[in-house]
Amino acid sequence: MSKAFSKIMAINAGSSSLKWQLYSMPKEIVLAKGMVERIGLPNSIFTVKYGKGEKFEKILDIPSHELAVQMLLDELISLKIISSYEEIEGVGHRVVAGGEALKKSVVINEEVLKEIENLAELAPLHNPANAQGIKAFQKILPKITAVAVFDTAFHTTMPAKNYLYPLPKKYYEDYGARKYGAHGTSHFYVTQKAAEILGKPVEKLKLITCHIGNGASITAVKYGQSVDTSMGFTPIAGVMMGTRTGDIDPSLIPYLMEKTGISSVQEIINIFNKKSGLLGVSEISSDMRDIIAARKEGNEKALLAFNMYANRIKKYIGQYFALLNGADAVIFTAGIGENSDIVRSKILEEMDWFGLEVDESKNFPGAEGIISTLSSKVKILVIPTDEELVIARDVERLRVF
Ligand code: ADP
Repeated sequence: MSKAFSKIMAINAGSSSLKWQLYSMPKEIVLAKGMVERIGLPNSIFTVKYGKGEKFEKILDIPSHELAVQMLLDELISLKIISSYEEIEGVGHRVVAGGEALKKSVVINEEVLKEIENLAELAPLHNPANAQGIKAFQKILPKITAVAVFDTAFHTTMPAKNYLYPLPKKYYEDYGARKYGAHGTSHFYVTQKAAEILGKPVEKLKLITCHIGNGASITAVKYGQSVDTSMGFTPIAGVMMGTRTGDIDPSLIPYLMEKTGISSVQEIINIFNKKSGLLGVSEISSDMRDIIAARKEGNEKALLAFNMYANRIKKYIGQYFALLNGADAVIFTAGIGENSDIVRSKILEEMDWFGLEVDESKNFPGAEGIISTLSSKVKILVIPTDEELVIARDVERLRVF
């Protein structure tokens, strides 16, 4: 029997963390949210935020994801947010890689779980952790509908001319070497929201969506579908990020190995992934707030890192204007895109030829919605992303009543 309201959990499991949000659907009300950090390490941190800004925090050893889930549900009962485990009627899991087979959100069965685990090849840091989260919930809440929502799903509409690399074709055919992209759930959410704000159906809009957080990707969205995106086979590709290089000449790998004496390709890739980007160039921090502060004090390296960062995003936006033959709007989201008026201004500086004009009186920290001038041919939007809501909506849609 279907009930008027259901409680749905949206889960983002990492190897040592579990982020969650509990929704009342279909009203889309967040009843509580929180995080378990340092799972499997001493002094795990368990937090719940609920009510009118109340916060519960506990530090204790939580050795496994399964125990984290159990503790979370018990605490929701103690805090009177739910009265029993049975009240949770569905759970949605963020899964980073869905490959080519998993093109949309699906109800998880043994076959789907196996496929998610097999796809660890494409996302070795993420998919095994996502699968761990799925299994933990299966153990504790075996009867409820569990749904997997894939970061790559939105990008499965890309045409071959955009997702293929100019490599010998057999590397794609035999090994799946292609562009998969990431942050799809976020690009999808802001696409839908932009259509709402602009008062037009997505099927009539050409959008360039910029998800700029610690990780960053730019997507060209034509009539509601992703046609190209800046991340590639893995998230290293595309624009410069907090600690990632973005696009780089692969010849640098053997060259740097020879010059530095680093003997493993994996170690070089690790440098490209974790020690480059804003952090590598500034030698200060991967956090944009630190870069902006140091730049203000006249730090040259921070200034260079900042300019390189904005420039690389600008170039992708330009590329996608060409690919889409113009666009109706450019959208900014995620930590930097949502919060930094300074970064947005720098990216959009001298793009008036493209029809982009920022209204600086609307472009302030905390701004939301349209930030372009009335005469700007292309609208500029700031939209806070909400991947968890997309997950909760998909669970509600696919839930077996
Ligand atoms: P993740 O990719 O880990 O989800 P976020 O989307 O939370 O990351 O983005 C984190 C980034 O957002 C950090 O670089 C942080 O400095 C930046 N950020 C957050 N608030 C601001 C701000 N007010 N000004 C500039 N950068 C900000």
